[in-house]
Amino acid sequence: MNVLVTGGLGYIGSHTCVQMIEAGITTVIIDNLSNSNPEVLNRIESITGIRPRFFEGDIRSERFLDSVFSQIRIHSVIHFAGLKAVGESVAKPIEYYDNNVNGTLVLLRAMRKSGLKSIIFSSSATVYGDPETVPITESSPTGNTTNPYGTSKWMVERCLQDLLASDPAWSITLLRYFNPVGAHTSGLMGEDPKGIPNNLMPFITQVAVGRREKLSVFGDDYPTPDGTGVRDYIHVMDLADGHIAALREVSKREGLHVFNLGTGKGTSVLEMLSAFSESCGHPVPYQICPRRPGDIAECWASTAKAEKELNWKATRNVADMTRDSWRWQSENPDGYEKK
Ligand code: NAD
Ligand code: UDP
Repeated sequence: MNVLVTGGLGYIGSHTCVQMIEAGITTVIIDNLSNSNPEVLNRIESITGIRPRFFEGDIRSERFLDSVFSQIRIHSVIHFAGLKAVGESVAKPIEYYDNNVNGTLVLLRAMRKSGLKSIIFSSSATVYGDPETVPITESSPTGNTTNPYGTSKWMVERCLQDLLASDPAWSITLLRYFNPVGAHTSGLMGEDPKGIPNNLMPFITQVAVGRREKLSVFGDDYPTPDGTGVRDYIHVMDLADGHIAALREVSKREGLHVFNLGTGKGTSVLEMLSAFSESCGHPVPYQICPRRPGDIAECWASTAKAEKELNWKATRNVADMTRDSWRWQSENPDGYEKK
């Protein structure tokens, strides 16, 4: 099976490519390097012994995509490419809708032209907005998004469903990720955000390694056990395995397939901080700050559907996540940048 991975040099894409290659799937990568480093390709090769075919280019260029599809017969596309910073999306809505929505439409047009009708889309728990109840199931209401990033994910989900309504031969899989963290156990690959990290885990790791002074904990007055926000953190390798399960179980089947990818367990900011301190062997400095606008109190997934229909379940715990994140950050203090 030949699978095209858009955004395959990014954080989740690169870990998924490793697991795909290890599973014997021929992996072809497209990336415009807007948020990734070509060094990732070397790391994938070091881990797997195979260097996947890489096409540098932008999914918004139909001519570029046509040329890739004309060179290799692809069976399925996993579509990671896009912009993902919530705060930045508020400041740059045009760029976000252009990359995430327009980029997907161009990709779908090129796929249709080449007769390829199987796509797995990287969606997000953010499409659920502020959930009325937890755990969140796949049939919980969606669309009440609070920023252009979340809205762009929801819009793509709708576009894909309308496409399926127009042509039932498509196989559309929406994977709604909860909070991906962690790194490959080799220490060779991990999350390497450009600039100041927006997300909790990369911020903690950069404080722990001395690149930043202290973590700001956004709010300790939420209606949660310790007052800090609760999220469903999932190890990126479990997430990667979830994509392999989706490729195997549903990507060849026509219709709409929607799954939460999470662990079903909630962890608070202070619990994550304490687990991380345990892994790195020293306390991580922090201060309590006001809530971050737009944040919700708590969110975790119901995992029943993925377990039943994908035959997949996350197996790594918070200690695995913090240990692997720390190994990656401490062995690569500047990420993929060569100093
Ligand atoms: P990432 O930024 O590390 O990876 C995205 C990759 O896509 C990057 O390598 C970037 O260079 C590439 N890219 C961006 N725009 C492109 C374009 N127009 N053409 C070609 N390549 C392009 O992000 P990630 O954390 O690996 O996330 C992957 C996907 O999963 C994204 O769609 C993101 O929205 C979604 N997602 C991420 C999270 C998370 O917390 N990381 C949570 C839910 C959903
Ligand atoms: N958070 C924090 N400090 C940070 C970044 C995040 O306290 O520097 C908190 C945030 O308020 C939320 C949790 O950590 O409760 C997870 O935030 P993240 O941005 O990683 O994920 P999301 O909010 O998108 O689920």
